[in-house]
Amino acid sequence: MNKKIRFFQSINFKIAIVFILLLMITLEIIGAYFVKQLEEQNIETFKQQVQTPVYVNNQLSSQLLKSDATAADKAIANILTDLDNSADIRVVDSKGVVRGTSDVNDQRIIGQKTTDDNVKNVLYNNRSYETLSYDEKTHASYYVSIVPLVNPNSDSNSSVVGVIYVRANMQSVYRNINNITLIFLTASLVAALFSSIIAVVISRAITRPIDEMKKQAIRMSRGDYSGQVRVYGQDELGQLAIAVNNLSVRVEEAQEASEAERRRLDSVLSHMTDGVISSDRRGNVMIINEAAAELLNLDADQVIGQSLLKLLKVDDQYTIRDLLKKQSELMLDFSVPGHSLILHVEFSLIQRETGFISGIVCVLHDVTEQQKNERERRQFVSNVSHELRTPLTSMHSYLEALEDGAWKDPDVAPNFLHVTQEETERMIRMINDLLSLSRMDSGTAKIEMELVNINELFNYILDRFDMMIKSDSPSGQENNRTASKPRKQYKIKREITKQDLWVEIDTDKFMEVIDNIINNAIKYSPDGGTITCRLLETNNHVILSISDQGLGIPKKALSHVFDRFYRVDKARSRAQGGTGLGLAISKEVIEKLNGRIWVDSKEGKGSTFYISLPYQGTYEEDDLWDEN
Ligand code: ADP
Repeated sequence: MNKKIRFFQSINFKIAIVFILLLMITLEIIGAYFVKQLEEQNIETFKQQVQTPVYVNNQLSSQLLKSDATAADKAIANILTDLDNSADIRVVDSKGVVRGTSDVNDQRIIGQKTTDDNVKNVLYNNRSYETLSYDEKTHASYYVSIVPLVNPNSDSNSSVVGVIYVRANMQSVYRNINNITLIFLTASLVAALFSSIIAVVISRAITRPIDEMKKQAIRMSRGDYSGQVRVYGQDELGQLAIAVNNLSVRVEEAQEASEAERRRLDSVLSHMTDGVISSDRRGNVMIINEAAAELLNLDADQVIGQSLLKLLKVDDQYTIRDLLKKQSELMLDFSVPGHSLILHVEFSLIQRETGFISGIVCVLHDVTEQQKNERERRQFVSNVSHELRTPLTSMHSYLEALEDGAWKDPDVAPNFLHVTQEETERMIRMINDLLSLSRMDSGTAKIEMELVNINELFNYILDRFDMMIKSDSPSGQENNRTASKPRKQYKIKREITKQDLWVEIDTDKFMEVIDNIINNAIKYSPDGGTITCRLLETNNHVILSISDQGLGIPKKALSHVFDRFYRVDKARSRAQGGTGLGLAISKEVIEKLNGRIWVDSKEGKGSTFYISLPYQGTYEEDDLWDEN
C-alpha cells in the first residue's frame, strides 16, 4: 500500500516540470519575437545609415550633368570622400561608366564600363533596387542598394543621369544581434535555473501537506488514529488537512463505538446460557458462543467456516434454503448413551433494510429437563388415571353383582362389601397421598420445624410397632397412609445410640416417613423376619437406618423406588394395599427437612433404607429450654 513513489512520478516533479516548461515557452516566444524585431530594426537603421542622403544625390546628379568630365569626376571624388560612410559607394553615369568610388584602393575602375546587370536594369527602368546577399568567399552578408540619380532641375522623373551603387558589409549588424541574442539566452538560462529552484520549492510546499495527509491516511488504515496532520494555511489544502483531522477523529470514534458494541455483544454472547451460532447466507459458521460449542461438544475455534447444517447434523434432511424459507425452529435429539440432550433450535434471518438476507442466527436452547418434566407429567397423569381406574373398576363389578341380587346372599354380600370398602379406603389413601405430594410440589405444604430429641422419637415409634405385635391388632395410627393391618410376625431389633440427639424436624411428617419405611419392611418381608433399626451420629449428621431380611429390591429398580407410582411388583404392592406413593412422599419430606434418603439392597437378602439429617452437635442449654 505504502509504495515508494519515484521522483519522476511525483506531483512534485510534475508541478516543477510544468512550471519550467511554461516559463521556457514564454521566454522563447518573447525572445524570438524580440530578436526578430531587433534584427529588423537594426537592419533598417543600418540601411538608413549607409544610403546616401538626397542632397548628396542631387550634388552627384549635378556633377554628372556637367560637361567637363574630369572636373566632375574630381568633384564626385570629393563628395564621396566627404561622406562619412563605411560602405563601398560607386557612382555610375547614364552610359554605365563608373565615375567615382569611395574605395581608395580601387580607383582604377573609374572610367570603366560597369558589368553589373542590376545597375543596367536600374538605369533602364529608373527604379531603385536593393538586396541582401551572402558572400561565400568572405562569409559575410552584404547590403546592396542601387538608387537612380535624376536631374534635379528637370520636372520629369524619367531623366536618369546615373545611379549610386552602395554595397555595405552587414557583419556589424549581425554581430550586434548575435550579442543581444546571446545575452538573452544566458538570461533565460539563468531564469530557467532560478525558476526551477523556485518551482521545486513551491511544488514542495504544495506537496508536503498532501504527503503528510497521505501518511496520516496510511496510519489510519492501519488503525492508528493518534496522529494529526499539520495545517499549513487557510487554503484548500489547509481545509483538506482540517477535514482529514476531523475524519480521523470521527473514524476513531466510530471505530471505538463499534469496538465497544462488539465487546458488548461478545460478552452478552459468552454469558448467555443459550447457545448462539451465526452464519453467513451460505450457512457457513461465522460466530459461535461458548454455550453453543459446549452444547454441541465442539471446539469453538475450529468450527468457524464450517457448515451450520453439518454441526446440527441435519444436512441430510434440510438445505439452507429450507431454513431460510420455511423452517424457523427444530427439535433436535443429541442424546448419547448415558447423557440425554434435547435441543430446541430456533432460526432467524439477518436481513438488511433492502430485504437482502445476509445470514442466519440460530439459538440453541437445552430443553432436556423440560422435555423430561413434560414426559414425567404425562406419565404421572396416566399413572393416576390408571391407579384410580383399577379400584373403581373392581368396586363397580362388585356393586353390580350386589345389585344383581348378591346382596341377598348372606355368604357373599359381606365379603363383597368388605372388598368395596377396602378399595374405597385405598382410593382415599391414594388421594390423600396425591394431595400431600401436590402440596409439597407447590410449596403450600406446612412444615413446622421444631427441635426434637430424635433418639427419643425413634424409640417412641418403635415402641408403638412393638405394641402392635403384642396386641396383634390394627395399627390404629392416626394417619391414613399407614392404615394397612400388619398381621405378620416380626421382631424389631434396636441398635440405637444412648446419646440424646437434638435435631430440627417436623415431627408429624417425620413420623409418617418412619412409619412408611417400617411398614414397607414388614410388607416386603416374610413372616418372622427381623427388622433392625439403627441410629448413630456423625460430625454433623444423624443417620437412621431400617434394615429388613425381605425380598430386597432388584439392582435396576433401586434408583426408581422413590419415583411416584413405582412398584417393583405391582400386583403384590396392590394386594398389600400400597399406593406406590409412600417412598415418593418420604423423599419429598426428608428433602424438605434438608436431609437425604437412600436405599441399599440385595435381592433375596433384604433392604436397608437410610435417612440422614443435619445435626449441629450440642445445643446450648438455653436453646433447649427455649424450645421446650
Ligand atoms: P408401596 O405403597 O407400593 O409400598 P412405596 O413407595 O412405599 O409404595 O414403595 C415403592 C416400592 O418399593 C414398593 O412397591 C416395593 O416394590 C419397593 N419397596 C419398598 N420398600 C421395600 C422393602 N423394604 N423391601 C423390598 N421392596 C421394597
